[in-house]
Amino acid sequence: MPSTTRALSLAAAGAPFAKVDLERRDLRDDDILIDIAFAGICHSDIHTGRDEWGAAHYPLTPGHEIAGTVAAVGAAVTRHKVGDRVGVGCLVDSCGECEPCKNGLEQFCTKPSVGTYNAQGYDGEWTAGGYARQVVVSERFVCAIPRGIELDEAAPLLCAGITTYSPLKRWGAGPGKKVAVVGIGGLGHMAVKLAVAMGADVTTISRSDAKSSDAIALGATRHVATSDGQALRDARGRFDLIVNTVSADLAMEDYLPLLRPLGVMVNVGLPSQPYAVHPGSLIGGDKVLAGSMIGGVPETQEMLDFCAAHGIGASVETLDATDAAAVDAAWDNVVAGKVRYRYVIDAATI
Ligand code: NAP
Ligand code: ZN
Repeated sequence: MPSTTRALSLAAAGAPFAKVDLERRDLRDDDILIDIAFAGICHSDIHTGRDEWGAAHYPLTPGHEIAGTVAAVGAAVTRHKVGDRVGVGCLVDSCGECEPCKNGLEQFCTKPSVGTYNAQGYDGEWTAGGYARQVVVSERFVCAIPRGIELDEAAPLLCAGITTYSPLKRWGAGPGKKVAVVGIGGLGHMAVKLAVAMGADVTTISRSDAKSSDAIALGATRHVATSDGQALRDARGRFDLIVNTVSADLAMEDYLPLLRPLGVMVNVGLPSQPYAVHPGSLIGGDKVLAGSMIGGVPETQEMLDFCAAHGIGASVETLDATDAAAVDAAWDNVVAGKVRYRYVIDAATI
């Protein structure tokens, strides 16, 4: 018999959250039942829940930044045991056999991979995410949360952490490199912490000076407010790498000039509208405009271990969801850029 769990659910785009009893499948041999402690609120939850990307399927329980403890394991599980502290990110299944899967890039599984929510599993069932008390996930997609990272500060690492760690590492953030992070939200503040830990010189670029002192406290050496057009012009030609985490449309033509020759601008923010880019803005200076999508399971574990080694967790505000309307309000706050810097829902209050 499948079990039920308390969860937050949206009936339609624009509907408020309601509490429901959600069915979780009976444990398969490779499955783990997780008691969720905290679930981060990612802006992708909002894009999806409000149907800004299209293809939203309701009822919808979002949440792909999950941290908790193992409550039960299937007969063949070897990677984790009851009581272990674990995390689940954006993926819950992939074929395991295609080239991307074999290379630890499960997010690019050709079958394709199955998202933690708003996706159809290989069994045809729709997945439901971490805004819930419990979740059932194959052990292949469950990471160990190392000692030294509290579960609330760990949850956002499962999406915001890996989504910024992966491009920073791939594009060489490290000593001697000047990195700019555009947008200081959930992803952005993690990008700052991680790039600083990798040894890079980090500049934050934000709409105003409101987050300036926070940015310096996170380890940035300077802060640029885009409201000051001159400050943005003064930053031209400075950076080896720009990580754009902005959730809304951004004028690429204002940011590509900030790169040095051979510099890379990598977009992880995913607004619904296309960017306009003149080819000359890339050709002049041999610049690279790139994208990056979350990260595979091995790299997610590597990122968690890196965070533990460097004493890094997310900066969180804990959300009491006793009243489901608190989550609706939290979403509005995220869109308004008011959260410092990631909400995590206390799953016990769901
Ligand atoms: P977030 O916490 O809302 O942060 C986004 C930041 O963008 C804000 O803090 C704000 O920074 C800036 N911003 C917001 N509206 C803006 C506007 N109109 N103009 C300029 N800047 C604006 O969101 P998040 O959870 O970090 O997610 C950021 C984006 O990444 C979302 O689009 C999300 O869907 C996407 N995402 C992508 C992946 C991936 O795999 N590529 C994974 C997760 C999320 P300031 O206040 O500092 O200006
Ligand atoms: Zn996310």
